Amino acid sequence: MLKITKLVTLLFMFVLIYNSIIFAESILSNNTSQTIKLDLYFFNNTAYVDVYEFTNSHDFYIKHYETKDKFEITIKNSKIYFSPSTSFCKINNQIYNLTYPVLQKNNSIYIPAFEFYEILKSANLALRIIEFNKSSLYVSPNIFNISDLLISNRKNGTLLILKTEKQFTKKEISSSISSSKWLNITLLNGMIDSVQISNIAVRFPVKKVRTIQSKESAQLSILLDSDIEDVDIDIQNQEIHFLLRNAIIENAQKITEMKQKWFIDTIILDAGHGGKDPGALGYNNLQEKDVTLPIALKLGQLIKDNLGLKVVYTRTTDVFVPLWKRTKIANESKGKLFISIHANAAQSSPHTRGFETYLLRPGKTGQAIDVAKRENAVIELEQMPQNYKDINEHFIIAAMAQNSFMKESEDFAALIQKNMSKNLNTSSKNRGVKQAGFHVLVGASMPNVLIEIGFLTNKNEAKNLAKKSYQNKIADAIYKAIVDFKVKYEKPLINE
Ligand SMILES: [Zn+2]
Repeated sequence: MLKITKLVTLLFMFVLIYNSIIFAESILSNNTSQTIKLDLYFFNNTAYVDVYEFTNSHDFYIKHYETKDKFEITIKNSKIYFSPSTSFCKINNQIYNLTYPVLQKNNSIYIPAFEFYEILKSANLALRIIEFNKSSLYVSPNIFNISDLLISNRKNGTLLILKTEKQFTKKEISSSISSSKWLNITLLNGMIDSVQISNIAVRFPVKKVRTIQSKESAQLSILLDSDIEDVDIDIQNQEIHFLLRNAIIENAQKITEMKQKWFIDTIILDAGHGGKDPGALGYNNLQEKDVTLPIALKLGQLIKDNLGLKVVYTRTTDVFVPLWKRTKIANESKGKLFISIHANAAQSSPHTRGFETYLLRPGKTGQAIDVAKRENAVIELEQMPQNYKDINEHFIIAAMAQNSFMKESEDFAALIQKNMSKNLNTSSKNRGVKQAGFHVLVGASMPNVLIEIGFLTNKNEAKNLAKKSYQNKIADAIYKAIVDFKVKYEKPLINE
């Protein structure tokens, strides 16, 4: 056992030496003075570094949570957690294995040296071993030299500003645009803060940002949503400006389009069922259609009175409206948010209670299928069932693929659940956000959700759902979710 371990360690060190030499060439040729020396300590034939020496020499902040016996090191935007006697450590919510345990000895704490630097590299932290001998490691300081990316739209195009810690030369920067609209920027001798840059808020015309760190260079790949004619590169101290030039009119148009797309000015409220379709039947003959309508009407009133937005109802009285017509109404009135209100039933389990919000998605759970089946059953009652003859699982999946509002619908659903939880407190139960194929949502080309406000088959819940005061609480919760959603999605537009 010991021999194998030694052999593996030797091999590992060889690979490290080899890599370090290559790496050292690029770094040392660039920044010879920037190395830090750390002493090596050997325990059980394994090389360790003293964690306090590590943090002091780099000027990193270290915290010891004594009650949990956990250590936390902060390196820029990243946090590293580890504990004595275990080989596991956590960096930005990712768990890594150091192979050998962290040791606590002589009033200090020791971490396996080479393994620690390997995981720092895996976690995209720009700390590297440059060279080493039997007693010391020579390591790079925290050498991210590309620290942030800002996107701003100008009249003549889009300006991408790359914040750097050193001044790059024009020779070190190259860029290219692929036919699939990826802008690739390579920075020779660049060390990119991937954690920071991959978490920036992307906005038009940037759709995605990817980073790749290699030994000699950093690469940024930026997926764009518009055609770029050319890229101008300009270096200003510790910033690199990339001006992406496109046809002026096209850019201005797209910004306006985007603002229109996101500005939530019209909300579609869909009270489930109605007329000859009573929906689910519950305790004391309570009918779904009679609960959903007053909530939709109350919600509409709150929106109009407090937000001054346009509200479009799919029904305002006890009438039958086919499902296809509901989404047609939504799309034709250019709705920006579609909210379908329903109530649940579970005939065989009268104790089941709570509220849940559904998203249209493939990959349904069994229970979700039951709810979807019941809500879709109304199609049988419609006079033109041929409108749905093509609707099957494939159709739903195809509609899903086109649904570019999934992320927004998901966020909105979560906000509804959160506000319902707050407003209904212990009188109901948060059953979470779920997914199923509801026909009423198919084709709504806007963020859309279906809320099942509670179980009509649960005696207590049915009693509550029949009460005006309880219905108002639900309307108020959905209203608050709309306010939260508007704040989240309109804020970046207003700052534009
Ligand atoms: Zn329903």
